[in-house]
Amino acid sequence: MDVIEWQLRMPSAELSTAIQYLKGVGPKLAKTLKKLGIVTIEDLIFYFPRDYEDRSTITLIKKAAIGSTTVIGGEIIAVDAQLTRNRFSVLKAVLSDRSGTIEAVWFNQPYLAGYLRKGMKLVVSGKVELSTYSGVPQLLVKEFEIDNGSLPKIVPLYPLTEGLYPKKMRAMMQEALAGHLAEIEEYLPAELIKGHKLQPLAKAVKTLHFPGSLKEVEPARRRLAFDDFFVFQLGLALTRKKVDTVSGPAFKIDQDKLNNFLAGLSFKLTGAQERVVVEILSDLSRPHPMNRLLQGDVGSGKTIVAAIAALAAIESGWQAAIMAPTEILAQQHYQKIGELLKGTGVNIKLVTGTEQSRQSVAAVSKWKLIIGTHALIEDKIVFDKLGLAVIDEQHRFGVKQRETLFKKGNNPHLLIMTATPIPRSLALTLYGDMDRSVIDELPPGRTPVKTSYVPAKKRAGAYEFIREQVKEGRQLFVVCPLVEESEELDLKAATDEAGLLQKEVFPEFKVGLLHGRMKPDEKESAMKYFQKHQLDILVSTTVIEVGIDIPNATLMLVEHAERFGLSQLHQLRGRIGRGQDQSYCFLLGEPKSAEAKERIRALLESNDGFQIAEADLKLRGPGEFYGTRQSGLPNFRAADILKDEKILREARQAAFDLVEMDITSARHIWESKRPKTESAAGSAPLN
Ligand code: ADP
Ligand code: MG
Repeated sequence: MDVIEWQLRMPSAELSTAIQYLKGVGPKLAKTLKKLGIVTIEDLIFYFPRDYEDRSTITLIKKAAIGSTTVIGGEIIAVDAQLTRNRFSVLKAVLSDRSGTIEAVWFNQPYLAGYLRKGMKLVVSGKVELSTYSGVPQLLVKEFEIDNGSLPKIVPLYPLTEGLYPKKMRAMMQEALAGHLAEIEEYLPAELIKGHKLQPLAKAVKTLHFPGSLKEVEPARRRLAFDDFFVFQLGLALTRKKVDTVSGPAFKIDQDKLNNFLAGLSFKLTGAQERVVVEILSDLSRPHPMNRLLQGDVGSGKTIVAAIAALAAIESGWQAAIMAPTEILAQQHYQKIGELLKGTGVNIKLVTGTEQSRQSVAAVSKWKLIIGTHALIEDKIVFDKLGLAVIDEQHRFGVKQRETLFKKGNNPHLLIMTATPIPRSLALTLYGDMDRSVIDELPPGRTPVKTSYVPAKKRAGAYEFIREQVKEGRQLFVVCPLVEESEELDLKAATDEAGLLQKEVFPEFKVGLLHGRMKPDEKESAMKYFQKHQLDILVSTTVIEVGIDIPNATLMLVEHAERFGLSQLHQLRGRIGRGQDQSYCFLLGEPKSAEAKERIRALLESNDGFQIAEADLKLRGPGEFYGTRQSGLPNFRAADILKDEKILREARQAAFDLVEMDITSARHIWESKRPKTESAAGSAPLN
């Protein structure tokens, strides 16, 4: 490392000291803090409260109402420690202020007996209750502090972990700030701070920990949330810059050929499909790799868009690859895209994990379009001239897998597709370095699925309705959450369910079974039978969740709907409603928790994937919703990705501007501030 760099980093040497060397910490506490991700003094300083307790109003003892949670202040006039019969320790102190006295009670903290003394002044918070023994009011202490005259009025509440107490945390924070606040340097360019009306960094840090009043919190938090987003977006902006300058294959798009191909299809593209095709083809014709996310609700017709992109690659002399998360889906793409591209002379190879396909992989170079599962990214699959990589249902893949496919070519164009309608703020973070195309229109003639909740006593009625529909030639999916009966959970298992339906409920129809533990060729033939309508009913687990397209299947019955996530249910429901006929979805089960009820309700109320995703995100939070670890969603220190969209947009703009105007400082800031643990630039394949 050269001298200049070393000097640049010098000032933060103190902040980067291991936390155990902070006064009052030591190795044991350091270990506890590590669980919270706090390793250095700087980590501690940037560990912010989740909330505050307002002690600026101290209630007079006389006015502390029974049943309320209050803060009182008073002097100890008597202390009494007792052991109950079952050896619980109870410590009582009588507190007095100018309005009266009250008994404060601590349970199971015997060590306090030697600590609390007559004459001490305390500030105590907790719940006021009537003693079950004496009938007099008592304050059950939640927190207390010795009042030395300089207690903070607004007390920060930190997310804690076992073995770490609020008071200790606050004391450490005070210690760290007293010794190191001055070392926190402003690193944002002055114009940026001015332009966005941001608080100076050190001031914001101090205020967020120990605000003088609750009013001071928000401006301080805004500064730190801005920083969270800004640094992350810098990473994305830098990746983006790199992609834009790197060279990739420029496809020659033959407009006439394309029009001919479109004219030969059995349907006309929707306006939205046309629009995204134009966006994609324009990217593909430039000599830089495309880096684009294609979003479109289930059934919106993403496959044909991928096929058109593939055709553009192949016509220009390149290979294209399409990767799907399951064998069934890869198989279906192979078949459907095969039909779509019939007459174009494109040869297609299917590569899945288990088939003999693997033995003939050496021949991948012979093929123009290669469709497969993650088997595609195995080492032995070598492409000759990969110009386009498409990833379908990309949320099922990790960042690593996407990168691996990308690296099979020499900077190929990348198109990733998803039916998960990611809310905007999340998309700007997870895919902030990508361009986005959205298919926001369904093909014509689709009637929205009618969804209803079926309580146990109406099950028979639902079966009768289904019977009539199946007699008229429709097909039914039955979805069960598990493969084998588990008595404990009393779940309906697909295997048992299929047997039951065939024997007892629908003996006149043909019932098939599909689940994850079947062999691939068994799965495949089950799907095929169903597709060819040799089966009327397909009982399955969630393996049908993604992508399966069978327009004549207009009925779905979900067992134990309360066991599924909201977005998952929406994806499942997306398997029907794909043809002209009215489709019906029946949700069975007994939702008990409020959240489960809420999920079912959201589904009854909306067919719109975007609305459903928003509801899901609110119910579960971003981490759960998007599987934080896999997705590269960062752990922001002060920002809330759901609530701070406005700050996010500002910070994003600022970051992209800085990369344009002054890439050196942009790089410098990114290098020194980038999140340490995560692969920060979420989807960036070029890092
Ligand atoms: P998804 O976006 O969920 O992957 P698919 O690509 O599987 O959707 O398309 C769903 C169904 O809609 C398929 O049967 C497909 O052939 C059909 N489809 C796609 N585009 C159109 C269109 N413009 N008009 C009519 N049907 C279409
Ligand atoms: Mg699809």
